Amino acid sequence: MKIGCPTEIKPQEFRVGMTPSATLEAVRSGHDVVIQKGAGNGAGFDDAAYEAAGATILDSAEEVFATSDMIVKVKEPQAGERKMLREGQVLFTYLHLAPDPEQTKDLIASGATCIAYETVTDRNGGLPLLAPMSEVAGRLAPQVGAWTLQKANGGRGVLMGGVPGVGPARVLVIGGGVVGTHAARIAAGMGADVTVMDRSLPRMRYLDDAFAGVFKTSYASAQNTIELARHADMIVGAVLIPGAEAPKLISKAQLSELKPGAALVDVAIDQGGCFETSKATTHQDPIYEVDGVMHYCVANMPGAVARTSTIALGNATMPFMLDLANKGWRDACADDEHLLAGLNVHAGKLTYHAVGKALGIDV
Ligand code: NAD
Repeated sequence: MKIGCPTEIKPQEFRVGMTPSATLEAVRSGHDVVIQKGAGNGAGFDDAAYEAAGATILDSAEEVFATSDMIVKVKEPQAGERKMLREGQVLFTYLHLAPDPEQTKDLIASGATCIAYETVTDRNGGLPLLAPMSEVAGRLAPQVGAWTLQKANGGRGVLMGGVPGVGPARVLVIGGGVVGTHAARIAAGMGADVTVMDRSLPRMRYLDDAFAGVFKTSYASAQNTIELARHADMIVGAVLIPGAEAPKLISKAQLSELKPGAALVDVAIDQGGCFETSKATTHQDPIYEVDGVMHYCVANMPGAVARTSTIALGNATMPFMLDLANKGWRDACADDEHLLAGLNVHAGKLTYHAVGKALGIDV
């Protein structure tokens, strides 16, 4: 099979769909890989690294789309890219179709077979191609929160680990899933005093078993939340109710009860954010202040560490990409119900029920 990887063109997207290492695996399995010139630059992979892995470098996205049986990307195809898709071609990438009727219409019209990273499942009920980005965002959260806490950035001027004779920062993580667990581990590693809140008792039992002595846990009732928030230097918002907007856990009125210069890092901003005063920001201008409290609400946090994110995503997508290439999409999906769960559009039809329901299209 011919596998093609174009340069990402969505603004501020530096990741790339295929790493040189995934390229090598595909080439060793007998496939041809074509990479658009410069596609890996943002993630620190130059064309020579792909050529060394056996890929052919092509000058334009048009050539990559025209010659490939399967396109492997990171972000949903932009309007110009969607025009280049064709019947029978496989597209393997993040799609996020539910809030995007334009893209859905174009993908249906293309006749291509479109498999979305975000709906591929695993046998534990998890989302294995979303998890790496949650791991990255979670681990990044205390790092950006620590920076936000610095005086010059409007923060309280508190050092995460304190120093001998001066106590550490208090960090409250709301939501103890993938993002929250990774955020808590890194914050604790920086020496902060960390508490993780969740509404799921099984999850808190797991966290207590696995991380006793590293961080504390607390049930996320409204009362516990505001009581712990009052004493926190940093609050990380990491809740998720699948398919729903994030619940607002700290209101605008409650900001006056928080410490002046506290840092709110709302990782859940891509689902609307879990603080009432959150609004999405960018890496260029990531923080703002409301009522003396600093907010960091970047919706694509993994983009800040494009190299780590690309490699983490590549590690997770590679086995599926190889299966699709080795068996063809039909047999690969017939053999693996979890990969089949990723199928969103095929041959002019929407095939994913939740997207159909969201957009009012028959599936
Ligand atoms: P997850 O499903 O692994 O964890 C979410 C946790 O929130 C669960 O343990 C759940 O029990 C808990 N929860 C739900 N409602 C709660 C409430 N009211 N109070 C306390 N806990 C509650 O999800 P995740 O992978 O950790 O993702 C968390 C959020 O981060 C999602 O919105 C995800 O889209 C987002 N995210 C953002 C970025 C970014 O760049 N900003 C990157 C990756 C993920």
